[in-house]
Formats: sequence, C-alpha cells, structure tokens
Amino acid sequence: MTLERVKHTMERLKMQHTLGTLPELVEEAVKRKEGPLAFLDRVVTMELQAREESRIATSLRLSGLPKGMHLDTFDFAFQPSVEKARIDFLATGEFIRKKENILFLGPPGVGKTHLAVGLGVRAVELGYSVSYYTMDELIQVLKKRADVPVAKQTRSAYKKNALVVVDELGYQSLDRRETHLFFQFIAARYVKGSLILTSNRSIRDWVHLFAEDELATTALLDRILHRAQIFSVDGRSYRLKDMEKLLKGKG
Ligand code: ADP
Ligand code: MG
Repeated sequence: MTLERVKHTMERLKMQHTLGTLPELVEEAVKRKEGPLAFLDRVVTMELQAREESRIATSLRLSGLPKGMHLDTFDFAFQPSVEKARIDFLATGEFIRKKENILFLGPPGVGKTHLAVGLGVRAVELGYSVSYYTMDELIQVLKKRADVPVAKQTRSAYKKNALVVVDELGYQSLDRRETHLFFQFIAARYVKGSLILTSNRSIRDWVHLFAEDELATTALLDRILHRAQIFSVDGRSYRLKDMEKLLKGKG
C-alpha cells in the first residue's frame, strides 16, 4: 500500500528514473541494513544523476555536435602546437561566462574540429546551450531565415545559444549577400554569446572569403576578434598519420 503511494508521489514529482526500480532499491536497502538517510541519499542522487545524463544526451542531440570528438580523446602529444593547459582552462567554461570567442586556425587534419567539438561537448556538460554548424550549414540556415523579421530572429536559438561553433570557415567563399547575412549573425551575437570558429585560412586571407569586401571583412573581424583567443594549430595531419606509417614501413 505504502509502496503504491510512494510510487504515485514519485510519479507526480517526475522521479521517473528511480520510480521503475523502487522495489529493488528498497529490497537492497533492507539487505544492506541501510539507514533511512543513507537510503534517501542514494535514491535522490541516482535520480539526479540519471536526469543529468538524459539532459546531456538530449542537449547533445539538439546541438548538432558531431559524435565521437571529446577533449579526453584528443592526443596532445601528437599535437604539440596546442598547449593542453590552455584547453583545460577553456574546458572550465570561463570563456563562455566572459562571452569570449575562440579561433582555431590551421591546415586540414590537425585537430581543429576535434578541439572545437570537444569544447562544445564540454559546454553542454556544464549546462550551456550549444549549437554546431559547418559554415555551409550556417549560411543555409541564415538564408532560409533571411525573410523572418529581425525582432523574431534575435529570439531564435541559434542567436541565443551561449555557444555557437562554426566549423570550416574557408572551404567556400561567400558572395556579398552571404557575407552580409554572416555579418548580421556575428553582430547579433556580439558580446551576447561565445563563438568558436575553425578555419583553414589565415585571417589575413579572410577578405577573399568575404566577397573581397574589405569594409565588411574589417567590421566582421572587429567584432570576432574583440574578445578572442586564437590558436594556431599546425603540424602533421592526424588523418594521414597512419598512411605515413604505412609509407615509412614500405620505404
Ligand atoms: P581539422 O578540423 O583540423 O581538419 P579534425 O579535427 O577533423 O581536423 O581531425 C581529423 C581527424 O583526426 C578527426 O577524426 C579527429 O578526431 C582526429 N584527430 C585530429 N587530431 C587529433 C589528435 N591530436 N588526437 C586525436 N585525434 C585527432
Ligand atoms: Mg575540420
């Protein structure tokens, strides 16, 4: 009788994770001769943990962050141009609280996306709202929403998120309209949220990405770099490292 009542109350409290295993939990408590406080502690801790895990899983799914790139799987020994201590500090989320931007610049395959995504995943774990786009995807999204009134747009998630990761700036050049849309996006987020950008082109070359428009490029850089940390990532391509090994083996 009491068990049924407790179950019903737990349902109303939305303790859905521990609700299902309540009889087992009680049985175990009896077996362990667990005191009431220890038992309560165990149940609420389990519920909170499970909730936290499902929150993270949902946020990760909604963020669009690609799977399988975590900071703890990044091999810093292979990538000496990136100081682990600096990334560890970013992983505290301090840069998001300060609304700073992070840029990872360098050639293909050196781990720019991995670091950007790893920090994005970490931000989700810390409870921040995060969106991931490749530059191409972002431009498509911005184009689709170009007709929506500005007031409505500022409310939309991609501008409101605490952190937006824009990956692969530089694989494609933008035309004037696209440059303008991107500028609007950057201007809307300016000092309101953080941005992580990755690019295979040095900042000096960005004017060529943005329709040769020096004015727009300067205005963009002005906002992006105002509070930014830049990482120059270089060295060998991680993608090609196994191929290098094979070639060496043969030579
Ligand atoms: P970039 O974005 O610089 O072109 P990526 O981050 O996509 O490079 O890296 C290419 C692949 O190699 C990815 O699968 C990534 O997980 C992996 N990778 C790159 N650098 C490292 C590293 N230092 N440690 C572990 N995996 C790495
Ligand atoms: Mg990349």
